[in-house]
Amino acid sequence: MGWLIAIAILLVLLFLGWASSDIGSGVYLRSRCRGRVQEQVVALTFDDGPHETMTERVLEVLGRHRVPATFFLVGEQIERHPELVRRLVAQGHTIGGHSYLHRPTFALQSRRAVSRELQLTEEAAERATGLKMRLFRPPFGVTNPSIGRAVRKAGYTVVGWSIRSLDTVMRRSREEVCRRVLKRLHPGAVILLHDRLPEADRLLEQLLVGLREQGYRVIPIEELLKIEAYEK
Ligand SMILES: [Zn+2]
Repeated sequence: MGWLIAIAILLVLLFLGWASSDIGSGVYLRSRCRGRVQEQVVALTFDDGPHETMTERVLEVLGRHRVPATFFLVGEQIERHPELVRRLVAQGHTIGGHSYLHRPTFALQSRRAVSRELQLTEEAAERATGLKMRLFRPPFGVTNPSIGRAVRKAGYTVVGWSIRSLDTVMRRSREEVCRRVLKRLHPGAVILLHDRLPEADRLLEQLLVGLREQGYRVIPIEELLKIEAYEK
């Protein structure tokens, strides 16, 4: 009997762990992780910016290849570099929120504290660009009941991913990251990258070549997921 209870507890813990750590689980928050399409199209997303030097380099590569991307921005960083956020929008890219402070403890906060971070980020972006963002991606992809309630109250559309590049993992070379993404490619993929990393621009360059070689086209997230990025 005892071992049955132990197994039941273990299963519940595994479920709760999966529910909060997998952005695609949809237990606490429904998120959009891929486009329902047949064609070979994908969307690129960059988290944690704007970064004082790397975002500009990533923008240069995107511009040269005439490719759109979505940037999930950290509120505090928007306040530091509003001009970069304006450039992102001016060059036709999409912006969304990614919390105000992006602390590892984000998911441990109360509903009110999470709501405050969402609101501060939204206000910072609106001051910088005049746009009221409607897209949100939780830091680390972690969700729980407080985050779920705060995001639903704000009325945001949550955007997850279907391919995690693992570009933030140290020791992984650019080639390995690129290979990992290209191996997992599928129609409608949403690819997770980070524009704050020292090799972000070179990785992007390599990835765009690989995507083209495999016959994939990059389209805006709004088009891929059929969503609105800003309040009208
Ligand atoms: Zn992040």
